[in-house]
Amino acid sequence: MIPKKIVSVSSEEELVCTSRFGKFFGVPQSVFDQVWQAISSPKSNSVAYVSMEIGADPDLFHPVQDFIKEQVQIKSDNPEILRLLDKYLHGPRKIPNYSGGLGVLAGDTLKSFADLHIPVFAVSLLYREGYFSQLVDSRVGQIDQATKWSPEATPSLFQLQDPDHPGQPLELTVPFFNEYDHPVEAKAHVWMKMEISEELDYFVPEFLLDYSIPSSLPWIREAGLRLYNSKSAIMKANQRRMLGSCILPLIERLGLTWKTIHLNEQHGVTVTLHIILRLLAQKLGDDWQTRMTDQDIFAAAQEAAEHIVYTIHTPVKAGHDRFARSLYTGISHGTGCRILDLLANDPDSPYEYNFTAFAMRVNRAVNSVSRLHRDVTRKQFPEFADKIRAVTNGVHHLTWISEARAKVFDSTADLSGWRDDPGVFSKASLDRNATFLEQLRSAWEQDNLQLVNYVNQMLSDHRARMEETWIDPPNYLSHLPEGKGSRLSPGVFTIGFARRFSTYKRADLIFDNLTTLADILVQGGWPVNFLFAGKAHPQDEPGKSVLKLILDNQKELYERSNGLARLIFIPGYDMTLARRMVSGVHTWLNSPKRPLEASGTSGMKAAMNGVPNLSVMDGWWVEGYHEGLTGWKFGYEGPIKADSLSESPETLLYVEDSQSFYRLLPKVLELFHSRPDEYLQFAVNNLRRNVPIFNTHRMAAEYVRKYDMQLDAETADRVLSFAKLYQSDSCDWPKAQE
Ligand SMILES: *Cc1c(COP(=O)(O)O)cnc(C)c1O
Repeated sequence: MIPKKIVSVSSEEELVCTSRFGKFFGVPQSVFDQVWQAISSPKSNSVAYVSMEIGADPDLFHPVQDFIKEQVQIKSDNPEILRLLDKYLHGPRKIPNYSGGLGVLAGDTLKSFADLHIPVFAVSLLYREGYFSQLVDSRVGQIDQATKWSPEATPSLFQLQDPDHPGQPLELTVPFFNEYDHPVEAKAHVWMKMEISEELDYFVPEFLLDYSIPSSLPWIREAGLRLYNSKSAIMKANQRRMLGSCILPLIERLGLTWKTIHLNEQHGVTVTLHIILRLLAQKLGDDWQTRMTDQDIFAAAQEAAEHIVYTIHTPVKAGHDRFARSLYTGISHGTGCRILDLLANDPDSPYEYNFTAFAMRVNRAVNSVSRLHRDVTRKQFPEFADKIRAVTNGVHHLTWISEARAKVFDSTADLSGWRDDPGVFSKASLDRNATFLEQLRSAWEQDNLQLVNYVNQMLSDHRARMEETWIDPPNYLSHLPEGKGSRLSPGVFTIGFARRFSTYKRADLIFDNLTTLADILVQGGWPVNFLFAGKAHPQDEPGKSVLKLILDNQKELYERSNGLARLIFIPGYDMTLARRMVSGVHTWLNSPKRPLEASGTSGMKAAMNGVPNLSVMDGWWVEGYHEGLTGWKFGYEGPIKADSLSESPETLLYVEDSQSFYRLLPKVLELFHSRPDEYLQFAVNNLRRNVPIFNTHRMAAEYVRKYDMQLDAETADRVLSFAKLYQSDSCDWPKAQE
């Protein structure tokens, strides 16, 4: 289906490439060499993108597999090639190294960098037990388990080999300290995930460090097993250091060069500390640790700042790392702590290091992830208000548009080139193109049918397994006898909601008053499916309670609405389920407490498929909402006040917002049932207005302009054309509300 433009690749053998670090597969050797040269050029023109998590499951976007399926006649008699092809066609296609939006954003961003040919490499960790696998029991709620997966078997992941000992894994040494202030060496293997462009003509390497290896120390091994393992504060602090402190040693070992380090959130900010330490050692020579003055430290920080770009992703406190100074002095050495004393101090909390404050202080640019978030961040950090800018998030359109929708776009003349350029949608005249409208409606129906079938299969699997396992199925419908009343029907108005279960996201908002909700449906005679999914962090007890509350509401809502309302919880939220949901529902619900949803990206994924959002005016929706065109808004829109940023239950504003939802819902249902053509126009308007803006090509282009890179004329032109699609930081936006 995807026409690969490159003509040079005529067979699978041509996708094998080698380097000092081993053998890889996915791009021609010439492309491999070109990329490696760009990221190791002595001119230092590249960016190291640092993220605690990266979500890029090959399930959803896998150009190499598409290529093999479409273009390769498997005729090779080379057993190694046959093994590779088999792995790419049938291997596992999930890399569970993400927890939610931050990681998926990182993956989407890196894919767009690859599509745009920008010299970037990423650094993250490889978690042998993933984040966690979610089981859900109707009486217990969420149960978490280690995720079983095999990096070795996963296509597009490669373990780097030691150039001096062929056949042995490359082992990186990362300097650490133990609780007695003694230096210790942490060991890590290095994996490379290749984020390959659609055309197989560029890639962005992601270097994932695996610390859970026999030669590493037990406390390091354990801290590296699971993403966001926060069993103890020390483990959490160590996991952050394992990211931040490996970056310079990794770069040196691989012979890479860099001009900018982009911190995707502050988790990896100890890299800044290491840069400062090196600058001080270079400047002051021997005895530098005893001779350095505060002035020297500030001067080195200023120099380091020139190389750091920082993106802050949330106004929510839990998203910002703080560690007790007493804890940190036990695991870091005195010189490092002296620097943190000056740069990570927090006047509000003198006994802690505040790593957000550290990241805020030492950089050359701070970006927020939407316009509203910029205004809120300026209020939270008035000292840095001048340098805080908005680069509104996006999603990788090729990853999130369903196959059925993509086929329609492929066959629409006006949309030609949409895969390369999502800006194409803004110029297409679609609203009166009868063929297009009919095809779009039909694709939406297909995606809805797929989703409904998926849910029904899940319900009956759960029902069947009820006897054999100790798990009590998470859905009331699985407890009902098999039959029409215990299944979903296609075409029934379906509301989707899936995201991490943090309390501020308020998954339970619309169930605030079950009687009111049920009455709306009964009075209109409107059946509605409510599909929910999402994971709560294992240590987030309030988040887990919200999840349990969703389960607890199912029966009552079903009965009060005479079976019209079917509230479903789908366990195991991941990228595959996300795409299934955003494309298969009729509207995408977002009910956070404003302004705590800094951006939100699942709603953009819905918009990519033309699915209208039903959302509180928060995050990206402030920019993506157009009255009567792209979706609906509800809830509090007033000024941002002091307690707006609080997450305490009494400030979550339930009643106002839920009542506003109950006023809106009948209007949406009425429109869906009585004026389907008008409803379809909401889809068209999302494609026309929101696809060109909320995509990562545009977002990546805005970032590239901040990286200050030397690009060849053609790439620079392309970047400029995407950057021009939108100005996230445009000034004609109302001033921050008081
Ligand atoms: C997109 C995505 C998210 C982020 O969704 P938000 O709306 O930003 O909360 C989280 N998890 C998965 C699996 C996703 O695909």
